[in-house]
Amino acid sequence: MTETADRQSLLIVDDEPMNIQSLARIMSEEFRVLVATSGETALEILSGSDIPDLVLLDVKLPDIDGFEVCRRLKNDPRTSGTSVIFVTALDSTGHEEAGFALGAVDYVSKPFHPVLVRARVRTHMRLKQKTDLLERLAKVDGLTDLPNRRQFEEQLDRELRRCAREGLPLSVVYMDIDDFKSYNDHYGHGAGDDCLRRVARALKRSASRPGDLVARYGGEEFVAVLPNTDRSGAAGVAEQFRSSVESLAIPHEYATAAGVVTLSLGLVAVEADASVSTPVAQKQLLEHADRALYDAKKAGKNRTAVYTPEQS
Ligand code: GH3
Ligand code: MG
Ligand code: MG
Repeated sequence: MTETADRQSLLIVDDEPMNIQSLARIMSEEFRVLVATSGETALEILSGSDIPDLVLLDVKLPDIDGFEVCRRLKNDPRTSGTSVIFVTALDSTGHEEAGFALGAVDYVSKPFHPVLVRARVRTHMRLKQKTDLLERLAKVDGLTDLPNRRQFEEQLDRELRRCAREGLPLSVVYMDIDDFKSYNDHYGHGAGDDCLRRVARALKRSASRPGDLVARYGGEEFVAVLPNTDRSGAAGVAEQFRSSVESLAIPHEYATAAGVVTLSLGLVAVEADASVSTPVAQKQLLEHADRALYDAKKAGKNRTAVYTPEQS
């Protein structure tokens, strides 16, 4: 990653070029600076892939006012984490209060001193950095860098609702490394950790559609949610998971199945059905995937078993 991409980014929205210039000059030493001279342009930038960490937002703009820009930014889950500081000549208490009520973190009155604005921006950028880190730690597994169980559950919940609403199928694949206890016992815990990392990378490469999510569920267990994927499609992806791990060819002399590290997989598919989007149904889905996984282990490991409703 380049140094530029690592730097936090700041969007300055002001219809007065002089204001933009004086702010941009002083901020660009530390931050990546984007500028907009209207509300529309600001929203356009915010709808792109390069979402700024903080917005210095003028209230009075020629088209959409700053309050409205802030409202839309906070209502969009993609940009709701971006911090907003209002910059305006409207320094009445009522306006300030309105700004804070919309979720702004600070308020600067015109005429401003760029050095003081920078000090405030620095403070909020540091806070933003810490919040981002905490959010990441809460969602990502530290060993493998995959999404963790919490993120998986959130994604499953979201996708179950969406697929039920849109009349689409959804599949879940539950995976467990075969004979991993003996791998650790013979090759050591460090080698076990390396193995988990390599397996995680192989699984991640194997599910590439938008909406697919592969997570570390815990220990040597992984799980994938595959929205808009029916049973036969998911069987294809599961085979991709299985073979990608087998072809890593990580030696495992003590494995019962293949002489290399392998996975067993349990697959469950739900057809489009509004009733599956409840938490109870979600729990049941995981139980069914686990049940299929158990069958795959019993049948000799290094294979996928599909849950069939007759089993329950
Ligand atoms: P099976 O084929 O039936 O799945 O047997 P198994 O040995 O894989 O299953 P078991 O659940 O008995 O053992 C899981 C082992 O995974 C226990 C532990 O040694 C290992 N393990 C779990 N989490 C970690 C981890 O974070 N790092 C390492 N190195 N090992 C782990
Ligand atoms: Mg296990
Ligand atoms: Mg296991």
